[in-house]
Amino acid sequence: MFPELKFSEAQILDYCDSVTPEAVEVSLAKDRCDYFDLLNLISPAAAVYIAAMRKRSTLARRRYYGKTVSVYAPLYISNTCVNSCKYCDFNIHHRAERKILTLDEIRREGEAVRKNGIDSLLIVAGEDPKHMTVDFLCEAGRMLRKIFSYLALEVAPQDEAGYRELFAAGYDGVTCFQETYDPNLYRELHPAGPKGDYTYRVWTQQRAGKAGFRTLGMAFLLGLAPWRSEAASLAAHAIYLMRECFQSKIQFAFPRITPVSDGFQPGHPVGDAELEQMMLAFRIVFPECCMTVSTREAPEFRDRIVRSCADNMSAGSRVTPGGYAVLADRDVAQFTLNDSRSPAAVYDAIRRNGQEVVFKNWDSRIGL
Ligand code: SF4
Repeated sequence: MFPELKFSEAQILDYCDSVTPEAVEVSLAKDRCDYFDLLNLISPAAAVYIAAMRKRSTLARRRYYGKTVSVYAPLYISNTCVNSCKYCDFNIHHRAERKILTLDEIRREGEAVRKNGIDSLLIVAGEDPKHMTVDFLCEAGRMLRKIFSYLALEVAPQDEAGYRELFAAGYDGVTCFQETYDPNLYRELHPAGPKGDYTYRVWTQQRAGKAGFRTLGMAFLLGLAPWRSEAASLAAHAIYLMRECFQSKIQFAFPRITPVSDGFQPGHPVGDAELEQMMLAFRIVFPECCMTVSTREAPEFRDRIVRSCADNMSAGSRVTPGGYAVLADRDVAQFTLNDSRSPAAVYDAIRRNGQEVVFKNWDSRIGL
């Protein structure tokens, strides 16, 4: 569980099992929900209240985000990695074709993404301390900042000094998936490499927040452990960060594990209905927080979920380094994409939902 959470997994699951329909109705009627309302809304008893949760979540979403959906794209700049995460095709033992983009290739990729109208970019790289140094990421950031209004990072966790340098280079957001909040399972799934340090990873967002980062992205990988206890930890982690890094905004993601080539099987797969229940619950309890919906999900699910809870989605994603322009014909992906629509098709679907596509909602000059 999240280290600051004073309940065990068994206590959380017992509480969820004991929630009554009346308790769910009380939570749904509240104007401002707390931690226990989240537990009520993710409980088995709430599963039959999905229609009411959708209605309540849609109102909360509209209050903070209106009828808008922000779009972004990930840019994979490397797939080399020294870690051995058992659920990932980029792990060091996997015989994938490896590619580290040069600064010139990163620029070409960025320009190709920008041509689709995207103005927010998420830089993604495996953990490779030799090549993906703070200096290299800063150089890439300074270059890409001339092309994009908003840059975020999903790379190896850094110390606070590193985050200060990266923030100064033009990055505004940091995303780090905890994968699982269960320390024992975490050790089992990350048997070697620096990512094996649970404690260092779990405090990543706090270091980034202290360094000035405006958006702190967080998630667990759905399918590794029972989702209700992981969601309880994620919520506790978010509440902790909202207090400790109150200048920053929390961004939730709910990535479901997708098939990898060596056949890793998740022990606790999460179905569509459960995923939707969890996302609705988070939107109701954390109405002001950002929420993104992954390209791991099918188009129908994504289009539905941005009406009721998510405010942010990727469009036209490629999860291969060089996938937009440099090596557009290759496919060395980190995970399986379930939404392969073009950016234009995603924008069309958003507009057909009666929503407006937002390409730019931030410029760092606003923060000066
Ligand atoms: S999940 Fe990330 S850290 Fe783990 S092997 Fe894949 S790229 Fe490396």
